[in-house]
Amino acid sequence: PTAHTSPLLAQLNHEQHRAVALPAEHALILAGAGSGKTRVLTTRIAWLLQTSQVSPGGILAVTFTNKAAKEMKLRLQSMLPVNVNAMWIGTFHGLCNRFLRAHYQLAGLPQTFQILDTQDQLSAVKRLCKQFNVDEDRFPPKQVQYFISGCKEDGQRPGDVPVRDDETRRKVELYQLYEEQCLREGVVDFGELMLRSYELLRDNVHVREHYRRRFRHILVDEFQDTNKLQYAWLKQLAGLPGEGGECAILAVGDDDQSIYAFRGARVGNMADFVREFQVKHQIKLEQNYRSFSNILDSANHLISHNKTRLGKTLRTDQGAGEPVRVVESPSDFAEAQWLVDELRQLVKLDGFERKEVALLYRSNAQSRVLETALFNAGFPYRVYGGLRFFERAEIKHALAYLRLMENPNDDTSFLRVVNFPPRGIGARSIEQLQDAARAAGCSLHDAVSATTGKAGANLAAFVAMVDVLREQTEGLTLREIIDLVLDKTGLVNHYRAEKEGADRVENLEELVNAAESFVTQEGFGRSAVAMPQALSQSPASQGLSGSGSADLGTIDEFSEDGVIMSPLAAFLTHASLEAGDNQAQAGEDAVQLMTVHASKGLEFDAVFITGLEEGLFPHENSMNDFDGLEEERRLMYVAITRARKRLYLSHSQTRMLHGQTRYNLKSRFLDELPEACLKWVTPKTAGFSNLGNAAGSSASGGAWPQTPAFNRHARPAWGQSSLSTETYKSPPVPVQKAAPEHGISAGKQVFHTKFGEGKVLAVEGAGADARAQVNFPRHGVKWLALSVAKLTLV
Ligand code: ATP
Ligand code: MG
Repeated sequence: PTAHTSPLLAQLNHEQHRAVALPAEHALILAGAGSGKTRVLTTRIAWLLQTSQVSPGGILAVTFTNKAAKEMKLRLQSMLPVNVNAMWIGTFHGLCNRFLRAHYQLAGLPQTFQILDTQDQLSAVKRLCKQFNVDEDRFPPKQVQYFISGCKEDGQRPGDVPVRDDETRRKVELYQLYEEQCLREGVVDFGELMLRSYELLRDNVHVREHYRRRFRHILVDEFQDTNKLQYAWLKQLAGLPGEGGECAILAVGDDDQSIYAFRGARVGNMADFVREFQVKHQIKLEQNYRSFSNILDSANHLISHNKTRLGKTLRTDQGAGEPVRVVESPSDFAEAQWLVDELRQLVKLDGFERKEVALLYRSNAQSRVLETALFNAGFPYRVYGGLRFFERAEIKHALAYLRLMENPNDDTSFLRVVNFPPRGIGARSIEQLQDAARAAGCSLHDAVSATTGKAGANLAAFVAMVDVLREQTEGLTLREIIDLVLDKTGLVNHYRAEKEGADRVENLEELVNAAESFVTQEGFGRSAVAMPQALSQSPASQGLSGSGSADLGTIDEFSEDGVIMSPLAAFLTHASLEAGDNQAQAGEDAVQLMTVHASKGLEFDAVFITGLEEGLFPHENSMNDFDGLEEERRLMYVAITRARKRLYLSHSQTRMLHGQTRYNLKSRFLDELPEACLKWVTPKTAGFSNLGNAAGSSASGGAWPQTPAFNRHARPAWGQSSLSTETYKSPPVPVQKAAPEHGISAGKQVFHTKFGEGKVLAVEGAGADARAQVNFPRHGVKWLALSVAKLTLV
């Protein structure tokens, strides 16, 4: 086929067509969001193959995420019959890994080299610091890790680092020792993958020549977010003009979507590329195919507030479309509930597919409230590019401590945190402990007393710490318990000191919020919750009746139809259930939750951008400096331009942040949008009068299906005094004179949309405060507010 007859090119506009059919020379496409950059890149690969200008083995394409790589391969396969695996398509790290696997010997690596993630890397640095008696106050391991990673990103080995002072000298020494340790253990970190493959290309003329002959076409998507070393690697692989390179690079990017400067990305790589490679073809794409013009105009208007731009235009032929909806909620809870309602409508009435809807947020920690609302509503969702809240490592660590306090014999939790944060308990000590426990047939906790020596002392100290915590937290509220645990175990400090730990600290603080709202929702202000026997035997609650929880009192005497759980135990059960349950199955049609960062390059029919508040988006860490604010604005530009048909911008008057309710101003970005494109919508739910009481407002707004409205101000009664019978007694039940309208009473069978059929155990309160305790065979015993829970009799 020729460029005029190939069906591959029929769908493209003139400029896209030109880009796809360019001769084999370097080219840069600089163009705005949704203008078809990725489509051009993929189509060019197909075109080159179809016209036999190159064989699959001659193609190398770099994408920003593994998901994008997968999608590109699928697209190619659908365009023409081709062996996609013969092409090198992947992320920088993925490609370097493939390269080093092929040349492990030349790269000086064992064949089975393992990759360290950021966590593992830090553990390795810590071990090293211990071994060499490094003064950790002067040289905190995280700083050492940061230093090492930074050097690698700049392409520097220990010998290349300029040493100006003693401190740097010491760090360089540690860098050297770290390298030796990694080599000895046969492991490489992320930076090493990149640096080692760069060096092999640079230093080995045969390898370099081989690849320069092999790859005839290198295509790079999202070029604006490449860093210094990645660009240097590309130069080695392609060869600059005059170095005998025969390869053509097609780089596509958008300076307005550069959002990784904080990780060393350099927009300047685009200008360097044009200069150093003497780029002949620079193509602009100005037609946006993704969005209706209300959405696109909003994005254009917003980004025009940035000063440092290369400048581009972007238009669409698609017509105005719907206005951009701006929604204000009284609280983050109400926002989440409004979202769920709106999502239902979107799917039921407006015919959107769930997977074509995205919920975007600036910080990972924001997902928790959204997840809970979706979970409670039984609405399928998937958290993309990250883990669900209760599955994140830092949350699991925190929960493991809490579980150990509930149940010292929980060996899984014991192993998870016995040396996290690191406290000098090595793998061998743990193995010995496991052997001892196995021989004695007891738990790891119980086996500790039999250990000896330095290892034994460390283990005993760990056990003592948890025991002391258990005592210290007696009589505290759930929130206070978690606060204390995060502090005393060193978890928060551990992440605070980490290079990219800020997100994890926010998540841990969010755990405190989760506990707070759990208490409010589940009615712990009034009484403990009874759990059916079956549920009480789940691992999370084993400690309740186990011997190790003697300090919890003789709980069993209060359990008639089940075991009464402490708020902590109930919270832990909730956490493990929520972690395992509602995540949509692979392939299931589910709404997508992700950070704005993770949404780059993707598109959806409908997009919700949540939490548009000063301090959150723009993020408080970036608000006060010029560059930071411009990067935040680019992030907002990325977020807006993900939407095809419908866009919601949502902000909330109050929000639980870092463990306290904040009153937030709406984001300045909302003021930077063209008024004519917007429609200000107010959610139907009332509740604005409850401003300042986040949980309460949602309850009174009917916004929180399983939120009993009756105890939102109450403090948890658990453990306020020694555990007397009083603590567990239900408060007096209002006497009901007339038969209640709902007709629900103890012993009846009822149906709930999420939990299915269940048996009513008890009914309390009247009118708006009426609630029922129901035993659902699959979900356990729940207290439900009848005014919101919509139970039907069966
Ligand atoms: P981003 O900057 O967000 O990565 P992009 O420039 O890579 O965006 P694409 O994702 O390639 O844009 O394209 C955006 C949407 O427009 C896609 O759905 C794509 O299929 C569609 N599209 C691109 N070009 C055309 C065209 N000529 N005709 C019809 N649809 C097109
Ligand atoms: Mg793209």
